Amino acid sequence: MAHKVSPLRFAYDALDPYIDAETMELHHDKHHQTYVDNLNKTIEPYPHLADLTTENLLRRLDQVPEEIRTAVRNHGGGHANHQLFWEILGPKARPSPKGAIGDAITKHFGSFVRFQSLFTDAAAKHFGSGWAFLVVNPSTEGLEIMSLPNQDSVLLHGRPALLCCDVWEHAYYLKYRNRRPDYLLAWWNVIAWDVVDQRLEDVRAGKGHG
Ligand code: MN
Repeated sequence: MAHKVSPLRFAYDALDPYIDAETMELHHDKHHQTYVDNLNKTIEPYPHLADLTTENLLRRLDQVPEEIRTAVRNHGGGHANHQLFWEILGPKARPSPKGAIGDAITKHFGSFVRFQSLFTDAAAKHFGSGWAFLVVNPSTEGLEIMSLPNQDSVLLHGRPALLCCDVWEHAYYLKYRNRRPDYLLAWWNVIAWDVVDQRLEDVRAGKGHG
């Protein structure tokens, strides 16, 4: 079973003016697709890996043959990270979270504004290409902010992700050029908080994502 890029739930221009259509199309159809193509190519000679989901390949990376471990980490991570990124984005987003996720953010970070500032800081200051994540710590059940380099997945760290932000230049360079902070400021306008809320409910109900 080959790994596949899921179609977007919305049109390429649906996040405009925050994320432009050309960036969305290239990012989804070319950048994400390349990770998936490379992942499929990497595991093709290993039939015993064919039935594992991308998430399970990353969770069990130590069981993946050593000669393809780095390639699976990079391309599998690139696939999993982008799948999550498209999932948590949406047009006509609410400015701030409500429900369980809103309560959890207030509980663990003091306020939504403080969370926004800490997350933005982690994403803005991440050196080079990588991602910022909001994750659940399975031992404390607390919410944490993580930033990881390259295409590393939070699954390598046993943390289910609720939210992620791509800070590779390909995610913002066409519109924002070198201004990563401007992209981050805009990004807060296109988060599908209902999806993030559902992910938290799923993690708490033991239904996965971790
Ligand atoms: Mn990307």
